[in-house]
Amino acid sequence: MIFILLPALLGWLFLTSSSAPTESLKSHPHLDVIVLDAGHGGKDAGAIGTNGYMEKQGALGIILKLGKLIEKEMPGVKVVYTRKDDRFIELYRRGEIANEHHGKLFICVHCNSTPQKPSKATGLTTYILRPGKTDAAIRVAARENAVIQYEKNKSRYNNLSDEDFILTSMSRSQDVKFSEKCAAFVQNSVCSKVKIKSNGVSQAGFFVLVGAAMPSVYVETAFISNPKEEALLKSEAGQNNYARGILEGIKKYKAIYERS
Ligand SMILES: [Zn+2]
Repeated sequence: MIFILLPALLGWLFLTSSSAPTESLKSHPHLDVIVLDAGHGGKDAGAIGTNGYMEKQGALGIILKLGKLIEKEMPGVKVVYTRKDDRFIELYRRGEIANEHHGKLFICVHCNSTPQKPSKATGLTTYILRPGKTDAAIRVAARENAVIQYEKNKSRYNNLSDEDFILTSMSRSQDVKFSEKCAAFVQNSVCSKVKIKSNGVSQAGFFVLVGAAMPSVYVETAFISNPKEEALLKSEAGQNNYARGILEGIKKYKAIYERS
């Protein structure tokens, strides 16, 4: 199986990371470019809450606030957005944007959801790229990866499977190490700032993370299918707290990253 998938994976990696060598950590020890990725957008609303609030709106609101905070409080760090408004960006293109700008950290922001609404599911989970270990993680990745239904050339993702996520992790072991550290800082600081239940750091096979050749984390902020958390995601105060929490996590991560 691996022998069949490996050429496809290598092709994918070559295409998506040609402008950003994975060895960049060694030659560029400064966290000088952070790429912010607001999930979904345009024709892809993402998950929709019981009261109609859309994941694409909450993700963008948090990302824009986070970008402003980084620019204000982290001088010398350049912020790159995969989208700054309500537009559709294909998953593979998001990683490409990150690579083209020589990002040192890729932060994806999304909202979790359940098939049945309203639901009492609650809490924050931060993910890194690896095969999903739990049913919940596998379900989240499947739901998020399903957005490729809106893309013209879905076949580019055809061969991505657990074997590919393992191979990608192995080929980027340094990035995975830093992703784990960043995810832990972000998870802790957002939970304390937002006062939301922690579902911990987890791992799953998110297609969007495969293309970004740098440490990356995927934040499932809260359950939009839970009316209380939908209201939290929609509120300015809630979005500000998420942005502040992620910022504090990034600041802690930057300190250890630059000492490495
Ligand atoms: Zn999403």
